[in-house]
Amino acid sequence: MGKPDMATTGHDNTEAAGNKAPLERAERDLVALGILVAAIFLFVGTGSTVLTGIVRSWIYGVGSPDVLLTNALILNIALLIFGWRRYVELQDEITERRKAEENATRLARTDALTGCLNRRSLDEAITELVEGAVESGDMVAVMMIDLDKFKRSNDLLGHKVGDAVLIETARRIEALMPARSVVARLGGDEFICAAVFAPCSENAIERLAVRINTSLAEPIISGGLRAEVTASIGVSIAASGAGHTPAHIAQDLLHRADLAMYQAKRRGRNRFAWFEMSMERELRFRGELEQGIREGLKRGEFVPFYEKQIDLETGAITGFEMLARWMSPNHGVVSPEVFIPVAEEIGLIAELSEGLITLALEDAKTWDASLTLSVNISPLQLRDPWFAQRLLKMLVTAGFPPTRLEIEITETCLHENVAVVRSLITSLKNQGIRISLDDFGTGYSSLAQLRTLPFDRIKIDRSFVSTLARSADSASIVEAISSLGRGMALPITAEGVESAEVLSALRRFGQFKGQGYLYGQPATAEDVKRELAAQGLLASAAESGPAPETPPETTSARSA
Ligand code: C2E
Ligand code: CA
Ligand code: CA
Repeated sequence: MGKPDMATTGHDNTEAAGNKAPLERAERDLVALGILVAAIFLFVGTGSTVLTGIVRSWIYGVGSPDVLLTNALILNIALLIFGWRRYVELQDEITERRKAEENATRLARTDALTGCLNRRSLDEAITELVEGAVESGDMVAVMMIDLDKFKRSNDLLGHKVGDAVLIETARRIEALMPARSVVARLGGDEFICAAVFAPCSENAIERLAVRINTSLAEPIISGGLRAEVTASIGVSIAASGAGHTPAHIAQDLLHRADLAMYQAKRRGRNRFAWFEMSMERELRFRGELEQGIREGLKRGEFVPFYEKQIDLETGAITGFEMLARWMSPNHGVVSPEVFIPVAEEIGLIAELSEGLITLALEDAKTWDASLTLSVNISPLQLRDPWFAQRLLKMLVTAGFPPTRLEIEITETCLHENVAVVRSLITSLKNQGIRISLDDFGTGYSSLAQLRTLPFDRIKIDRSFVSTLARSADSASIVEAISSLGRGMALPITAEGVESAEVLSALRRFGQFKGQGYLYGQPATAEDVKRELAAQGLLASAAESGPAPETPPETTSARSA
C-alpha cells in the first residue's frame, strides 16, 4: 500500500528539481532579452545623432562628436554584440535540449538490448495501430512470441550468447513484418508483434506466423557457439468496429494472443496457434478449479477412496490403494487426474496429500494387521527434503506400523534429481516403508535406473493390462515386464484387471498381485469397512485400540 504513494512522491520531487533549473534559465534569458531590446532602442535613439556628428567631423572637418554620446554608442554596440551572442547560444541550447528530450523518450519507449519497443510503450503502440485500422476498415493481428527452452540455452551457452539470441530474434521478426506494424520485447524471451492487414487476411497472417516460426528456428551463431531455439506463437485478430474503444480492443488482442501462445506450447512448441473462444472458457474453468481446491481443502472436501489389491493366486485381499477424490459442491465427485495436477501447480499438493494420508492411516488402523495401505506420492513431494521426516511423524502420531505402508512413485520422479530421490527412498526404506514403481512401461525408465533404486515392487500400467487379451503388443509388453521382474526378483502388481479374460491371460505369465474393476470400483472408507467386516478382516479391538466404529474426526470430513 505504501509503495504507490512513495512512487508518486518521488515523481513529484524529480519534477520539482527538474523545473527549478529551466525557471532560473528563463529568468536569465528574460534579462538578456530586455538588455537586447533596450540596446536596440538606445542604438536607434542615439545612433543617428552621434553617427551624423562623427561623419560630419570626418568629411567636412566641422565640429567634434559629443564624447559622452560617442562612448554611449560604443557601449551600445557592445551590448548589441552581447545580446546577439546570447541569442545564438539560446538557439543552440534549445536544439540540444530538444535532442536530449527526444533521446530520453526513445530510451523510455524502447528495449535497451534489442532496440524494439518495450512493455511500457506497447499498449499505446497497439492502440494506435487499432485506431488506424478502425479508420481504414482493416484488421489488426497480434502475435505473442515466446522462445522455447531459451533458459536452457542461456544456462548452457552463457548470457552473452543469450543476449545475441534475443537481439537476433528481434532482428528476424522485424525483417518479416509488413509496413504498418510494431515489434516489442516484453522482457525475458517474450516478444509481441502486431500488424495491420486488409480485411479477411487470415491466410496472410498464418503465412507470416509460419515464416516467423521457420526463421526463428534457424540456428544462431555467436562467439563461435551455436544456439538453437524455436518459438511458440499465439495469434489473435480483431476486425475493425468491434464496438469497443481501441485501447480495449488492444488489451483483448494481447490477452488472447497470450492464451493462444500457451496452447501452442501445450501442443508441442515450435508452432503457432490461433486464439479460440474455448481457451477463454478453459481459463475461467481453471480459475474456478483453483479457487475450489483452496476452499475445498479448508472445508475437508478431499476424501480417500480405496481400491482393493488382490493376490491373483488365491483371490485374497492383501491391502488397499488410497485414491483421492474431491467431493466438490459445484462439480460433484472429481477425479484426481483433474485436481492433482492443479494442486501441484498451485503448490498445495503436499498439504492435500498429507491431509489424505492422515485420514487413510486412521482408516487403515481399523483393518486387519495383515492388510497394507498404498499411497501415491507426487514427484513434487519427493523434492522436499523434509518429506520423509514428516511422513514418519504421521505414522508415529497415528500409531501405524511403517511396514504396512507402501508408497507409489511414478517414473517421472526418476528423471528429476535421482540422487535426492535415492536418499529419500533409502531413508523411508530404513524405517520399513516399501516403495513401488507405479505406471511402469509408460515412461522411459531404463533397466539401469531400476537397478540403482531399491524398489520393492513394480506396477504394470493399466493401459497394457486392460488391453492384454486383445492386443498382441500389450501382451508382449506384459510378458517382457514379468520376466524382467522375475530376473530382478521384483514382485509385480498388474493394474487395470477389468475382466476374467485378462485375469486368466495374466496368470499364464506368472505370479502377480492385481487390482482393477473386476474386483470392484474404488470405494469409500465405510464401504471398505463393511466388506472387511463381512470377511472377518477388521482389526481386533486390542490391535486398533479403543477406536469407535467410525472415528469422529473422519466422519466430519466425509459427511461433506
Ligand atoms: P493410479 O495410481 O494408476 O491409480 C489407478 C487408477 O486406475 C485409479 O484412477 C483407478 O480408479 C483406476 N482403475 C482402477 N481399476 C481400473 C480398471 O480396471 N480399469 C481402468 N481403466 N482403470 C482402473 P483414479 O482414482 O482416477 O486415479 C488416477 C490417478 O491419480 C492415479 O493413478 C494416481 O496416479 C493419481 N492419484 C490418485 N490419488 C492420488 C493422491 O492422493 N496423490 C497423488 N499424488 N496422486 C494420486
Ligand atoms: Ca498408483
Ligand atoms: Ca498406476
